[in-house]
Amino acid sequence: MSKIKLVHYRDKCIGCNSCVEYSPENWDISDKDGKSNLIGSKETKKGVFVKEISELELEENKLAERDCPSRIIQVTKS
Ligand code: SF4
Repeated sequence: MSKIKLVHYRDKCIGCNSCVEYSPENWDISDKDGKSNLIGSKETKKGVFVKEISELELEENKLAERDCPSRIIQVTKS
C-alpha cells in the first residue's frame, strides 16, 4: 500500500484557515500564535511538521495544498 505524507512548513503560515475548512480532522488554528497546526504531526526539522494520512484524506488535503496562499502544504505519495 502506498504511503501518503502531509507536510506543513509552519513558519510561513498566515493562519488563513483554508486548510482547516478543507480538512478539520487534520488542521486547526493555534490559540497561541494564530497559525495552523497539523494535528498529530511530528516536527522533523525546525518548523517542518509531517504526518501520514490515509487515502480517504488525500483529496481534501490536495485541495488544501492547492489553495494554501503561502504554498506551505505539501502532499506526497510514495
Ligand atoms: S492554508 Fe496555508 S497559510 Fe492558511 S492556515 Fe493553512 S497552512 Fe496556513
